[in-house]
Amino acid sequence: MKTLISSDVRLLANLIQEGKVVIFPTETVYGIGASTKLEVACLRVYEIKGRPKDNPLIAHFHSIDAIAAVCELGEVGRKLLEEFSPGPLTLILPKKDKSLFPKDLETLAVRIPKNPVVREWIELSGGPVSAPSANLSGRPSLTKLTDVLRYFDGVVDGILEAEEPSFGIESTVVSLVGKTPALLRPGSIESKELVSILPDLWIPETTLKNDSRTIPLSPGTKYKHYAPSARVILASTEEFTYSLKTMKESKTTAWIGFIEEAVEPNGSSERFAKRALGGMAWFCPVSSNEDYASKLYAFFESCDLAGIETIFCEVPKSGRGEEGLRNRLEKATGG
Ligand code: AMP
Ligand code: MG
Repeated sequence: MKTLISSDVRLLANLIQEGKVVIFPTETVYGIGASTKLEVACLRVYEIKGRPKDNPLIAHFHSIDAIAAVCELGEVGRKLLEEFSPGPLTLILPKKDKSLFPKDLETLAVRIPKNPVVREWIELSGGPVSAPSANLSGRPSLTKLTDVLRYFDGVVDGILEAEEPSFGIESTVVSLVGKTPALLRPGSIESKELVSILPDLWIPETTLKNDSRTIPLSPGTKYKHYAPSARVILASTEEFTYSLKTMKESKTTAWIGFIEEAVEPNGSSERFAKRALGGMAWFCPVSSNEDYASKLYAFFESCDLAGIETIFCEVPKSGRGEEGLRNRLEKATGG
């Protein structure tokens, strides 16, 4: 199949209307989408990804009003969207329009992506666009066009060229369906930011743990996620620095962590990073939790491509950006 790779939003919106599958960048990760109104097109997304059928998709909208037209948004839902959208917040809402995919669910996951070009494309396509992350099921999400092309060129009908993802981890998912609002997936919008609007926000244990024996509230959380083929070790700063010093000759080990902490006492951080990348070790330096999140999945991809067997990930810094990043790192360890 020939994949149409273009920044022409109209051409790619036509593809969605014709029931085709299109990959597009969001501020979090790349998405692989089809019209929420066309079940057959959405089912093809599952086939391409190898995604389990009981893991529903997020519907991407161009505006709050478009969401309110098909879901029970309510006052709290509207406040949340006004505060955090367009942006990496997904809400699970009761569905008004029962014809939308997935038809067998009473609820719909909704979000408004940040990039105005992507919103224009969604609007032109007649919206909404249902899309999970554009990756093979179980693998880390993709954040670079080159990685997307390696997996999906010739497999999907179109790829929308627009600004690459910058947040790097998937959206925060909050359910407004039950009596108590629940955090189903941590992300860049953190639970403490949500409590001003949701003082009773509940964080279920299943949100934080990979435990197949419990029944997760969000089907997706029960599956192995976000993991590269390499073994991932989440290491304290001391363990990280020790492993880097003692194993840097290893050709099958890689590191991602904070440069300031990992430097040798007499070497500048920049020199160390260059030396490390210059063949002594696979080392990806990060400067903040946000920088870490934005580089993580692409680093996992490049490690797998290079045949790396073990990846040491330094624990995130406490504070801003920690919640979502720590969750993805823990999931990547399989823990
Ligand atoms: P992905 O698009 O791959 O980032 O995953 C979307 C996440 O949203 C998965 O964890 C899904 O299980 C979750 N999700 C989507 N729709 C619903 C829904 N109606 N109820 C609960 N969780 C949902
Ligand atoms: Mg995903």
